[in-house]
Amino acid sequence: MTTSSASDQLIARLDDVLSRIDAAAERAGRDSSEITLLLATKTRTPQEIAVVVDLLRQRNRTIAVGENRAQEIAKHADPLLAGNEVPRHFIGRLQTNKARDVVAFAELIHSVDRGDIADALERRAANASLVRDVLIQVNTSGEESKGGYAPTPEAVGPILERLRASENLRPVGLMTIGANTSDADEVRASLRGLRALRDQARERFGAPELTQLSMGMSGDLEIAVEEGATIVRVGSAIFGARA
Ligand SMILES: *Cc1c(COP(=O)(O)O)cnc(C)c1O
Repeated sequence: MTTSSASDQLIARLDDVLSRIDAAAERAGRDSSEITLLLATKTRTPQEIAVVVDLLRQRNRTIAVGENRAQEIAKHADPLLAGNEVPRHFIGRLQTNKARDVVAFAELIHSVDRGDIADALERRAANASLVRDVLIQVNTSGEESKGGYAPTPEAVGPILERLRASENLRPVGLMTIGANTSDADEVRASLRGLRALRDQARERFGAPELTQLSMGMSGDLEIAVEEGATIVRVGSAIFGARA
């Protein structure tokens, strides 16, 4: 009996994720080249990340890497990753005392969920003479464990205006973590809600620059693609279960 090697298993998982994205895009009449596959790299080693980046490049995919934890940013300076020119994003809960590291690392910060975070990011970006794109995190599931603004234009309007007034931060869309349930209808409702909110905010606040929708993870990426995600954030479905 032969057992497949770890690398064969990785390739199989990766190609499975890509075909899930492609099939969902096709159902929705979308082109999968317009969807960024963000690798959620928390807990993964530079070696593991570099292998997946190479495989995705061979497959001509639009990719980004997303780190969750400020403490793990340093690993992206490893020679296996530094200089690979993959766009770097920050997707985790933000702390004001880590704002400097996050701004230095990430060209797109997904998780602005409070005003004091916007203040800290702006100050650090200004100090470093950087302009950073940001997403406003929205809590579309109502789950208390999740950060983010309530999914209404009234809740999102003030932070949007605050970010638009900044010279160093540019709001470009919304991000959510979908409902944590196996009920696909509930997940779909929460993700559809993010898109509806983005469209309402564009209209109501005259903000056509809100183009991005960061939503969908390993378990719900098809639904997210069908509902208009421009960035899906995938970890375990590619790398395997986290320890
Ligand atoms: C870990 C993480 C992901 C990826 O989760 P998987 O279920 O491993 O695909 C996506 N988004 C955020 C914010 C995460 O923390």
